[in-house]
Amino acid sequence: MNIKNNIDTITQSLPVGCKLIVVSKTQPIERIQEAYQAGHRAFGENKAQELTAKYEALPKDIEWHMIGHLQSNKVKYIAPFVYLIHSVDSLKLLQEIDKQAKKSNRIISCLLQIHIAEEETKFGFSENEILELIQSGSLQNLTHIHIIGLMGMATLSEDKVQIKKEFKGLKTLFEKIKSLPALPNNITMQEISMGMSNDFAIAASEGSTMIRIGTAIFGERIKV
Ligand SMILES: *Cc1c(COP(=O)(O)O)cnc(C)c1O
Repeated sequence: MNIKNNIDTITQSLPVGCKLIVVSKTQPIERIQEAYQAGHRAFGENKAQELTAKYEALPKDIEWHMIGHLQSNKVKYIAPFVYLIHSVDSLKLLQEIDKQAKKSNRIISCLLQIHIAEEETKFGFSENEILELIQSGSLQNLTHIHIIGLMGMATLSEDKVQIKKEFKGLKTLFEKIKSLPALPNNITMQEISMGMSNDFAIAASEGSTMIRIGTAIFGERIKV
């Protein structure tokens, strides 16, 4: 796999306004450095510990994206440096991010993860849960978080019609939230994080602003 070529090919295929997050989970430092030297700066990891270790080992101008399920007790490790947390799936987690962000004297950008897939196992809020949460008033006093959009993962499937339908649904929900009267001050709907190696072209055409790609850049991950 030529990491630079893969990044270039994917980037060139994306519409304006859609950004590539290189998913570097399980990849050794040297392969991330290869992408860094090719000029790439936005990387995604799904485990707090691995994210922290890589942050410490690599140049400090990297934007680190947390894309995997995050336990509340791990937030403190990434709060001092994380660029964007894509995978916020509970009010409790938002409250903990707010608390740790305050300690680091930061405002941390977050995406709310929405369950759009058919599979039962994926994390995330349902459409009703998210609308209730936003309108409940419980986000109002979280002054150290900034919710900038939504994230979703489509069903792992070959069925392009199904995948397209799920991404379309996420975009529709995004627009619906954006148009709500009296959105809390800490919500600005700007980003939709959707699309992975096998479905990013569909996601991009459905309005994704951030695709999260690992396999199509580094090859198959070694299973641990
Ligand atoms: C691993 C992962 C990706 C990247 O998946 P690929 O199929 O390797 O591109 C994207 N998003 C999340 C949340 C992931 O955990």
